[in-house]
Amino acid sequence: MKKFRFYFPDNKDFVDPKFDGRDNSRTKNHRPYDDDCYPHEILSELPFDGMLVSLAGVGTMQKRGKYYEPELTEDFYFYGARDFLRLNKPKFSQIKLMGDCGAFDYHNEYEPPFTVDELIEFYDRGGFDYGISLDHIVFPYAKDDEAKLNLPHEVIEECERRISITLKNAKEFLVKSQNYNFEPYGVAHGYDKPSFIRSVKELQELGYRKITIGGMIKSKTDELLDLLASLSEVRLPETEFHLLGICRFENIPSYIKSGVTSADSTSPLMQGLKAGKYYALHDTTEKIDESLVIRVRQCDHSNVQNHIEKYRDELKDLIATMQNNKEFDINLSNSSLSVNECIKRLEVDCLAKLQKYDETSLDLNGTFKALTAYEKVTNENYLPSKLTTSKLSALQKSELKYKEFLINRTWRTCSCGICKGGLMNILFRSNQSNRRRGIHNLAIVTKHKNHVIKSLEPLTK
Ligand SMILES: [Zn+2]
Repeated sequence: MKKFRFYFPDNKDFVDPKFDGRDNSRTKNHRPYDDDCYPHEILSELPFDGMLVSLAGVGTMQKRGKYYEPELTEDFYFYGARDFLRLNKPKFSQIKLMGDCGAFDYHNEYEPPFTVDELIEFYDRGGFDYGISLDHIVFPYAKDDEAKLNLPHEVIEECERRISITLKNAKEFLVKSQNYNFEPYGVAHGYDKPSFIRSVKELQELGYRKITIGGMIKSKTDELLDLLASLSEVRLPETEFHLLGICRFENIPSYIKSGVTSADSTSPLMQGLKAGKYYALHDTTEKIDESLVIRVRQCDHSNVQNHIEKYRDELKDLIATMQNNKEFDINLSNSSLSVNECIKRLEVDCLAKLQKYDETSLDLNGTFKALTAYEKVTNENYLPSKLTTSKLSALQKSELKYKEFLINRTWRTCSCGICKGGLMNILFRSNQSNRRRGIHNLAIVTKHKNHVIKSLEPLTK
């Protein structure tokens, strides 16, 4: 069986298991982390093969982490990563734990803010399976000689300085890590192909057989694959590559050919959480389809309240015009209703219809009408004073995507464990529903990845 592990970077992406989007209920006196569930606790199948935890995110007892509050940092060091992340049950025994220093979080600093010893203490006390050496990210990347000519001399000098820091740390890290249980990874950085090749060669000469390829997050897919093909030429047969921060699983066959055995990425989660994307697997090709999930802003949220405050008069006229044009099916003609009340009523109408449509699949048009009406009064771009031809065409495209999403009802057949909670739990709306959608996406990419690996089997036997 071909090996390709997907690591999910830990960023406290847990959700309240008692959240219900239908009535917005949650755990009473909810305590973050204690009452929350990680993706692997709430999904029906394992959503990754490993988790990646960064020192910059967790911090040390002396240096505060970017994502962890001090009490969580203390618990992390006390219990170790597996217990802390609640991966200590037998069904999670296959899940690997990888640690890194989180170089992206300090890429603006002159030097890494941690020492090799601090990093080793983090890996040792965390009980990690793999630990990545202390690196300093190198940007940019020149794909060929012509692109390299455009890199100013001082930029190349800075890249070289960071490569030396990374290699020097890798040397110290490899020697010191011999006394510990985790397996060390060296980090290869470069600003062009030759410098990357040099890094890989030097790491192998030091003795590394596990190497991560860093700093390629922003690169185009063809540039990445071209680089990997070149690196595979200097790769020793037993050397394994890990891609830092890159998913793009449609390339797994090329990755495997180049000796890449794992990757990590927050992209599936973030695409759901921030961009409203909902992934699904295509029936025949098992390709990932991306839909735009419908957005229903929270009327009570400050964003909508500020919007009302700012455009009160214009919204009042807009609602009156919409009423005349029969753009919604409720009666807001009572002149004693404030703009806030009108918008709240449109929200309640929209949510009630969405929920009914979810349960019955009836009245698609009425549901879509209520959704569009609410979107019109909460999205600034729809205001007559803001609306331009190009904005209108973008808005119409989104409307079409919303309609498509409603018609397809993909969430009704998804077995991830999140979607059974219904449409209201995956709407583009609240932090809880947005994060749930991101977690659903994680389940989908892993399913897709496993399918791709399986499909490679007959060819490799
Ligand atoms: Zn799902």
